[in-house]
Amino acid sequence: MTRREYPSFVTHLECSMTGARYPAGRPHGLSEVGRPLLVRYDLDALARGVDRDQVAARDGGFWKYREFLPVTRSENVVALGETETPLIAAPRAAVADGADPGALVVKDEGRLPTGSFKARGLALAVAMARELGLGHLAMPTNGNAGAAMAAYASRAGLRATVFCPDDTPEINISEIELQGAVVYRVNGLINDCGRIVGEGRETTGWFDVSTLKEPYRIEGKKTMGLELAEQFGWTLPDVIFYPTGGGTGLIGMWKAFQELEDIGWIGSERPRMVAVQATGCAPIVRAYDAGEEHAPLWENAQTVAAGIRVPVAVGDFLILRAVRESGGFAIAIEDEEIMQAHAEMARSEGLLLCPEGAATYAAWRRALADGRVGRSERAVLFNCATGLKYPMPPVNRRVDRHGRIDYRTMA
Ligand SMILES: *Cc1c(COP(=O)(O)O)cnc(C)c1O
Repeated sequence: MTRREYPSFVTHLECSMTGARYPAGRPHGLSEVGRPLLVRYDLDALARGVDRDQVAARDGGFWKYREFLPVTRSENVVALGETETPLIAAPRAAVADGADPGALVVKDEGRLPTGSFKARGLALAVAMARELGLGHLAMPTNGNAGAAMAAYASRAGLRATVFCPDDTPEINISEIELQGAVVYRVNGLINDCGRIVGEGRETTGWFDVSTLKEPYRIEGKKTMGLELAEQFGWTLPDVIFYPTGGGTGLIGMWKAFQELEDIGWIGSERPRMVAVQATGCAPIVRAYDAGEEHAPLWENAQTVAAGIRVPVAVGDFLILRAVRESGGFAIAIEDEEIMQAHAEMARSEGLLLCPEGAATYAAWRRALADGRVGRSERAVLFNCATGLKYPMPPVNRRVDRHGRIDYRTMA
């Protein structure tokens, strides 16, 4: 990471619902009406001040897009070896379902620090916490966000407290604690954990970095859109399948595309944005199907894809808007189909997806079969975490080194 100073182009923050303005340079949670705040930039100045090829030539992973980000002083950047995540073609999987070999591409976010794309959002949230003088961060998490917050907060010398639903995978609980946060199991879902974080604020003084309840995680996730545009040679794919929980990434990418168009780096074409959920927790899909602008709480949320087990999203209307404006759709997948897609992608392409990533593959297959996606359309699947963090099926095949080994069965 180079330590040269970059100009900051932030002008203010804006309520995503009412457009009300909020000053930059001080801590913010939700807007007065309880909705997410979006960071706004002087895009004319940014366009004049930044060269596309120069940005593309930098290293440093998503930090290369510094001018599109709110951090004003380089000393506040928190880096753990971020990398540009690869686009990996899946030609066998594509052809097996009757699509062109080049139609299917996986963006593998599992290569980021802490093994998930939560690193993007939390790196920004933690850097901004440092910049704004916050000392103690707290959040509810299904696992990956807590791990990313723990790692970046420790790196930055900040305290972190994390609340997880009690059925959060053991590996996530352990990685969070090992990376320096204090982690509690809660007998409830992520929204119950969120309530605990909110209610503890006054007594503890911690700052709530829940999804979309602070403005900077979106900016971090926005870098997925910037990176994707750059990787596609400043064009965009035809369709993006995004496993949608709180929707930070979908909202962030949509924001990135607008900013890129506003500064003239891409044209007005947009990918169709597909919000993928699990049938056991599909509030966005239900609202999409009903033509609603908001998505009420989903009761008894349940799915193997823990990262998208989010029963209620404060940014619901932003997700639905992006999906509709893009001409995309929302789709729910059964757990069984998710795990089947998971196994098939691993076997056919050597890609060990996370269940949430596998859900996008299952969704693409469905959409291909029912004609919502064409066989030659370029589709990007987001694999948001390394598959290594998730439970895997047991294997019982054994060899007895003292017995007779029947090699014919191995030939
Ligand atoms: C957080 C998470 C998601 C959902 O991402 P959002 O942008 O919050 O919707 C999906 N998959 C995994 C593995 C996650 O950790």
